[in-house]
Amino acid sequence: MTDTSTLTRNQRLVLDALEGAEGPLGAYRILEELRPNGLRAPLQVYRALDRLVELGLVHRIECLNAFVACSAGHDHGGETIAFAICEECGRVTEFVDPEFEHRLGAWCSRHAFRRGKTTLEIRGLCESCAA
Ligand SMILES: [Zn+2]
Ligand SMILES: [Zn+2]
Repeated sequence: MTDTSTLTRNQRLVLDALEGAEGPLGAYRILEELRPNGLRAPLQVYRALDRLVELGLVHRIECLNAFVACSAGHDHGGETIAFAICEECGRVTEFVDPEFEHRLGAWCSRHAFRRGKTTLEIRGLCESCAA
């Protein structure tokens, strides 16, 4: 679990906004929500997000250009984080799959590929939207 006691006020506000959100939020949505708390400039939000992503408390979902709070509160280390993204309702489910991790690791060592941070974004329909 990442230590959150060193977060600045802005970082904590941004994290709270993401933790309370139903789904992923873009930086401008976060700014809108935090205006009453005194945040005015997009840069304040971006700076806080950068740090939160670095700490592993928040993940960036590239295909949506949006951010989510880490749902597990775990320290991911080098493992691959997967997101199942529902294109209908926007629900995002985060998971880690040891078997996938294992196979990916095997491929990388076979090809002497030194992989960096890996995020898997799976788009489709969630259970209730597919029904
Ligand atoms: Zn996570
Ligand atoms: Zn859905």
